[in-house]
Amino acid sequence: MPRQSIDQLQSTFRGELIQPTNGAYDSARKLYNAMIDKRPKLIARCVDVADVMAAVRYGRENGMLTAIRGGGHNGAGLGTCDDGLVIDLSRMKGVRVDPTSRTARVGAGCVWGDVDHATHAFGMATPSGFISTTGVAGLTLGGGIGYLARRYGLTIDNLLSADVILGDGRFVTASAQENSDLFWALRGGGGNFGVVTSFEFRLHPVNTVQFGPTFWPLEQAADVLKFYRQFILTAPEEVNGFFAFLVIPPTPMFPEHLHMKMVCGIIWCGTGTAELTEKATKPMRSVGTPLLDAIGPTPFPVVQSIFDGLYVTGLQWYWRADNFTELSDAAVAKHVEHGSKLPTMLSAMHLYPVNGASQRVDSNETAYSFREALFAEVIVGVDPDPANAQKITTWCKEYWEALHPYSAGGAYVNFMMDEGQDRVQAAFRDNYCRLAAIKKKYDPTNFFRVNQNIRPA
Ligand SMILES: Cc1cc2nc3c(=O)[nH]c(=O)nc-3n(C[C@H](O)[C@H](O)[C@H](O)COP(=O)(O)OP(=O)(O)OC[C@H]3O[C@@H](n4cnc5c(N)ncnc54)[C@H](O)[C@@H]3O)c2cc1C
Repeated sequence: MPRQSIDQLQSTFRGELIQPTNGAYDSARKLYNAMIDKRPKLIARCVDVADVMAAVRYGRENGMLTAIRGGGHNGAGLGTCDDGLVIDLSRMKGVRVDPTSRTARVGAGCVWGDVDHATHAFGMATPSGFISTTGVAGLTLGGGIGYLARRYGLTIDNLLSADVILGDGRFVTASAQENSDLFWALRGGGGNFGVVTSFEFRLHPVNTVQFGPTFWPLEQAADVLKFYRQFILTAPEEVNGFFAFLVIPPTPMFPEHLHMKMVCGIIWCGTGTAELTEKATKPMRSVGTPLLDAIGPTPFPVVQSIFDGLYVTGLQWYWRADNFTELSDAAVAKHVEHGSKLPTMLSAMHLYPVNGASQRVDSNETAYSFREALFAEVIVGVDPDPANAQKITTWCKEYWEALHPYSAGGAYVNFMMDEGQDRVQAAFRDNYCRLAAIKKKYDPTNFFRVNQNIRPA
């Protein structure tokens, strides 16, 4: 890398420029998923939009492979690269809530905990995910599936506008009124089109919710899953509950006799009243004989951060995913077979319901294509010990291969590893051609290609 160029960049850059010789390099290059170990040439930790513009120009003029890093949570490690430039947005925090218009302007370096903290003070929230440490940027640009999806839609359904730096260094705003083609593509198309520097979201009155799990022994998993597949399609939209195979962690939150027990369960989050949640979830919670059934009022930010202490930075992760429009008895049998063989305490299978409000948007209204899917499945092999990397990967792949024939054929991009072009196209289906045309317009050289890549038409 020419020394001169770094000096030139430094002279216009307010954030940090971290090279391999810098003492902070090893901590700066680390990702959430410790299975990914990449060594960029330069990490440009931006503090403002001007820094992002300078970093993009620098990457382009030096012909560098350029990755964009928001929260650094991507399973496939698509927030970094080997031998290239990482545009790291983690210092671009800041949330401004406008309680009158019920909107929030969010810096691209925020994680969801930052947003929940700021909006909760006003008794509001916007749909995000199931954990508070995930980056707002990556989650939003892929779609955003979370506790509020049945009631208020995906995260992208609540995105009002985004500020973007394009590959040629230009600043644009994308919204329904301005650059509407780009706005369409950003809502599901990932980091393919530019660096988003801030997001504007619609907020909803979400404050204290009814939260908690119902756990059943594995022997009852088939009955639970068969009831659940119908139940969650007709439950009031105020009720969310995702199905999981999991190991109950040894924390004081759970009775000691259940610690380390492999179970199936539903994790509930009701945004209606306690009475409505109790009445609406009762039929499901009456299936079989639950081991634990504990729903209670919980502030929404607490719900969002309840798994944070369990899933800390630096674990080994291997992900696989698919969307499902139905769950046949045969698929249920495969789930029970593989879900009963979780290889480690932190490994899990989650089945997220994506009906209700998230289905009131058509498949071609945003880049996110699978609007008719009823469930987004994600299988994660997780463990702190690198020696178990192969074990969790093998289990995850075998589970995925057993279920894939029953799937709708493609996955949610944010739950995918680096699985090749066929899988990217399968995720976008009919929307891929339109995405490729928009890519050609806004990023004709495919400068932004460290992502689930859409190639310019
Ligand atoms: C523990 C855990 C829980 C999760 N839970 C959920 C969940 O509940 N719901 C859900 O929908 N997803 C969930 N995810 C998946 C998550 O949405 C993706 O991993 C997402 O990519 C993370 O975003 P990030 O900003 O943290 O990632 P990063 O690794 O920083 O970035 C990922 C990709 O996003 C793009 N990107 C990031 N920032 C920008 C930007 N400012 N401009 C343009 N492109 C950008 C880049 O192309 C990059 O390739 C979870 C992930 C983890 C690890």
